[in-house]
Amino acid sequence: MTLALVTGGGSGIGREIAVSLRREGYDVAVTVLPGTYAPGDDGIGVFPCDAGVEEDVEALFTKLKDTYGRTPSVVVNNAGIQTWAPLLDLSSDDWDKVIATNLRGTFLNTRIGARHMVAAGRQGAIVNIGSGCNRLAFPNLVDYGASKGGIEQFTKSAACELGPMGIRVNCVAPGAIDTDRTRLETDAYAKEWAGLTPLRRVGTPEDVAEAVIFLVSDRASFITGQTLAVDGGVFSRAPWPAYG
Ligand code: NDP
Repeated sequence: MTLALVTGGGSGIGREIAVSLRREGYDVAVTVLPGTYAPGDDGIGVFPCDAGVEEDVEALFTKLKDTYGRTPSVVVNNAGIQTWAPLLDLSSDDWDKVIATNLRGTFLNTRIGARHMVAAGRQGAIVNIGSGCNRLAFPNLVDYGASKGGIEQFTKSAACELGPMGIRVNCVAPGAIDTDRTRLETDAYAKEWAGLTPLRRVGTPEDVAEAVIFLVSDRASFITGQTLAVDGGVFSRAPWPAYG
């Protein structure tokens, strides 16, 4: 069975991607921040690993090899955090934290994962979870938007370099998705975003997982370097006034 790794798979979208991959017949391992998560009994392996710490990620892949007898052929870089502040107030500590988890974490798990795939002579598929937030400037999300824009560009570079080795790299860019985390942003999250979204609803973690499942499957065997928006059209919608 193919082994799939989902970073930050203890909650929200990552959790749903892991459960969906399992349902599709993959062996699935997820990473969680050290000390934050009690594993269930759903057949999904749980491994503490800070996505942005190189030694953690190296140790993770060694541990996966020991546990499963192989390293992943599918890697989903989902771990992500955000801080909220206007640029003039944004601390360099918050900037570093967000870039370390989101962008450096994606780089590390891609590079180390791909090295293992190449060493084992295996083909593979990597999906990076980006965001629609980097399509347009998003208020108070300077560091996050920069990290997600970086992930989109990184996806293209990684796809071109790893393509000749049989490794595809794509990005999924969610719009407004209803998760425990986004519900904390505002009580009216789903209602507000449904009103802004052409398909008139917020997305679900299942919507994002479906796109990931497709992109890692053989049905997407000629697709690499792409960003697939799963956003109900919200980031295609210009926020300009309508005339006439
Ligand atoms: P969650 O906060 O539920 O998911 C993020 C997960 O990443 C959490 O389980 C978190 O663990 C984990 N995590 C955080 N830092 C690290 C780290 N350094 N190493 C390993 N794991 C870490 O939010 P969502 O499910 O909403 O977000 C998932 C992804 O989707 C993120 O990349 C986010 O940017 C992206 N996204 C989400 C959108 C949405 O509307 N929900 C829209 C666009 C993109 P813990 O909970 O313990 O901190």
